[in-house]
Amino acid sequence: MNDLQLDNFKTDENAAMVLLVDDQAMIGEAVRRGLANEENIDFHFCADPHQAVAQAIRIKPTVILQDLVMPGLDGLTLVREYRNHPATKDIPIIVLSTKEDPLIKSAAFAAGANDYLVKLPDNIELVARIRYHSRSYMTLLQRDEAYRALRVSQQQLLDTNLVLQRLMNSDGLTGLSNRRHFDEYLELEWRKAQRDQTQLSLLMIDVDYFKSYNDSFGHLDGDEALRKVATAIRDASSRPSDLPARYGGEEFVLVLPNTSPGGARMVAEKLRQTVAALQIPHTSPAEGASLTISIGLSTMTPQSGSNCRQLISAADKGLYLAKNNGRNQVGIE
Ligand code: GH3
Ligand code: MG
Ligand code: MG
Repeated sequence: MNDLQLDNFKTDENAAMVLLVDDQAMIGEAVRRGLANEENIDFHFCADPHQAVAQAIRIKPTVILQDLVMPGLDGLTLVREYRNHPATKDIPIIVLSTKEDPLIKSAAFAAGANDYLVKLPDNIELVARIRYHSRSYMTLLQRDEAYRALRVSQQQLLDTNLVLQRLMNSDGLTGLSNRRHFDEYLELEWRKAQRDQTQLSLLMIDVDYFKSYNDSFGHLDGDEALRKVATAIRDASSRPSDLPARYGGEEFVLVLPNTSPGGARMVAEKLRQTVAALQIPHTSPAEGASLTISIGLSTMTPQSGSNCRQLISAADKGLYLAKNNGRNQVGIE
């Protein structure tokens, strides 16, 4: 059977693939004849018990008929071997015994057999049992396959949600967090700082003379300059809890939890120098100038009943001071 035939076979719930393991060729011939006129029943015979497990793995039977007494290898040992192999562990096994003996029956079921027949059984009964076990095995396979598909699609859904979450939180031009995510994050960190009574710092960053940059070089170059500034801001945020974001237009913010005014000032000053060192050519304030940024800085330990807008407003005032005092500097209210 090739893979395609096997797939067709698997989808037909009434189909059965029988593997008979018995050292007596006569029994093999009798069962073959008994099943020959049965629709949808495929028959394989294995006379060498030492080949039985390998053959079962290869032909993937839906039922195994297993003789109990064979020279050299005990049938119950084989039953245990089927049960121990991942490829055969769930295949229904009907043991064929020479006599009706409760002790042998009990041992067969304990080893993992599903059914017990005395040979040679009546053909009608044999076919009925083969069909019954085969169908329940097919149902088991279908259920396992459905669970597997469900797990795959659940994982895909989780992955997609992660991607969507990331997209929803990020700014399209710069890849930094967007305003929405910044608002959420600042609110969260504000409450955390209030609970722990720690200092929360915020940098408000604005590109100097950016309108004139666009006017001189065009919006595409303007966008490129914004991306470079964004990269510098991302590189300036060293702790996992620092959050760089695009506040809007050519304005950025950097949230610095657990950071003192001195620490925030160092981050801000280093960032200002980094952007200046990029030496992005500009025509303002004078021909031959480089693009620069101004930064407003605020630090607060939130008190009860306070609001994180106070922190934004204070950083904004710092930024206003920096602009008024000549730009390319850090301002603190
Ligand atoms: P100042 O030094 O006082 O900050 O002056 P400014 O020109 O930078 O400030 P202003 O607020 O007057 O201008 C901001 C400009 O930023 C206006 C707008 O054209 C530009 N801008 C805002 N968002 C974008 C953007 O996404 N891409 C580009 N290329 N330009 C933008
Ligand atoms: Mg601005
Ligand atoms: Mg500006």
